[in-house]
Amino acid sequence: MSVTAIVLLGVPGSGKGTMAEAIKKSKGYIHIATGDMLREAIEEGTLFGSKAKSYMDKGDLVPDDVILKIVMDRLDKGSDNCKYMFDGFPRTLTQAKLLDMHFAQRNAKLVFVFLLVVPEEVTLARLMGRRVCRKCGASFHIRNIPPEKEGVCDYCGGELYQRPDDMKETILKRLVVFHQQTEELISYYEKKRILVRIDSSRHRNDSFSDVINVLQGKHNNRL
Ligand code: AMP
Repeated sequence: MSVTAIVLLGVPGSGKGTMAEAIKKSKGYIHIATGDMLREAIEEGTLFGSKAKSYMDKGDLVPDDVILKIVMDRLDKGSDNCKYMFDGFPRTLTQAKLLDMHFAQRNAKLVFVFLLVVPEEVTLARLMGRRVCRKCGASFHIRNIPPEKEGVCDYCGGELYQRPDDMKETILKRLVVFHQQTEELISYYEKKRILVRIDSSRHRNDSFSDVINVLQGKHNNRL
């Protein structure tokens, strides 16, 4: 019986969400996406949601105490034998250290941190064209993954919208915030020798198979 986890790290628009979906489907990881959890809290009108919204709309990071509360609550609901995949968490060194402490107390292990690397112009094009379903959260792109009918989700018929933080100015701010906050996180995981860089500017199947190769290479002894 053991709990293991991987982290997907990358600038907004690096393909974390798409990668997470593919890993979840093929490997059965439990997907913990803090951005999605915050957007749900906003939709539900919870106290956390309203606290988070003002930061998110500006492209700033939500304070660590809010994030840690929602993540720890989620982990406490899990069983003693599962595989977690964090997407968009941790984003700061404080979050990473607290996650380590939490895992150490539970004999859980963070096995890999995948850093999805993409040039900034690719990120901008991906995010500005992204459209998300208001109802089921499915993600589309006006050029790369267009829905069959403009503005309508292929899966549930829900309305597609542009996230407020996917406007150009906010994207640029989010990129600056990512580099400011996350660079130290990258070196933290590099020192622990669990950071794996994935070139995410290629077709999604290529980056996905790189991740799967790494996971399978370690499958027998660590996962
Ligand atoms: P994402 O969907 O991962 O791009 O996250 C959208 C926004 O949610 C970010 O720009 C932050 O404002 C907030 N957010 C998500 N995850 C975190 C986190 N781990 N720490 C702080 N803020 C976060």
